[in-house]
Amino acid sequence: MAELRWNPLLKTWVIMSAHRQARPLLETGACPFCPGSGKVPDDYEIYAYDNDFPSLMLDPPEPDIEGDELIGVRPAFGKCEVTLYSPKHDVTLPELPLDHVGRLVDHWEQRYRELGAIEGIDFVFIFENRGEAVGVTMLHPHGQIYAYPYIPLRVQAELDSCREYYEKSGGCLLCELARHEREDGSRMVYHESGYSVFVPPFAEYPFQVYIIPELHTSSLSSMAPDEKLGLAKALKVITGAYDSLFGVPFPYMMCMYQNPTDGGLYPHYHFHIEFFTPMRDRDKLKYNASSETGAWATINDTRPEDKAAELREKVTEQLERLDG
Ligand SMILES: [Zn+2]
Ligand SMILES: [Zn+2]
Repeated sequence: MAELRWNPLLKTWVIMSAHRQARPLLETGACPFCPGSGKVPDDYEIYAYDNDFPSLMLDPPEPDIEGDELIGVRPAFGKCEVTLYSPKHDVTLPELPLDHVGRLVDHWEQRYRELGAIEGIDFVFIFENRGEAVGVTMLHPHGQIYAYPYIPLRVQAELDSCREYYEKSGGCLLCELARHEREDGSRMVYHESGYSVFVPPFAEYPFQVYIIPELHTSSLSSMAPDEKLGLAKALKVITGAYDSLFGVPFPYMMCMYQNPTDGGLYPHYHFHIEFFTPMRDRDKLKYNASSETGAWATINDTRPEDKAAELREKVTEQLERLDG
């Protein structure tokens, strides 16, 4: 059973995916993502792997129930794919050579373009869930791409805010936010190769960061080669800094925001990456409970300025290793 059902209270779709119950909890036995498994090419560098248990499909089944005026129902049209970062089972994003991360960014750009060109795909979401704390079931380093037939609610909220700001001031809200943080400086953790990385003043998680290119750009597809390489460097340095915070692989959700692919015009939107990071200390996780889940009222019990200072120190070490 797979279908989309409309939540009229929140005005968004929920993806029903009951057939995914059968998916493994944590991998056991041979890794299907390693060369030689028979499920991936024997020789690959970066690979787009069709999700074995997709929630969204290009040929979805007929919905289980019929919709009506109150509760809309649609087929679970879309695509879910896995991005295998490299053939190596235990080399994570920050450990990959910079030029390899650069090719990963090129791969993301290609898949964003190709999936976005499919009729009916309105938003291509590139992300990585990392660590058991965020539900990862496969250890082989990988990200994912969901191609949705609608614009998800959180993205829509950002788009609406950016449009409102643009109509009022003629400027870009994300350009302005990055400029604000560069001028203030207290929450900046990285500022080079055309990128501003900072813990946002309104961080929802300890160590949450935004990665924003300084040139106004709407997607990976509108970036010049040096902008894509700059992004690769920022990603490698930030994820490396995360890992060195507590000396353990740092769990995160890396989420990439780009122009929707629904054919609309979005001159007011600006490519960026948001890292959501549930770990607040060694052995301590932040859980989203009633206030966060039931009221969307987030409580962050850390000071963004303190967390930024901790992260900045680790970023400096990473840069010394990379550039030195
Ligand atoms: Zn593997
Ligand atoms: Zn901008």
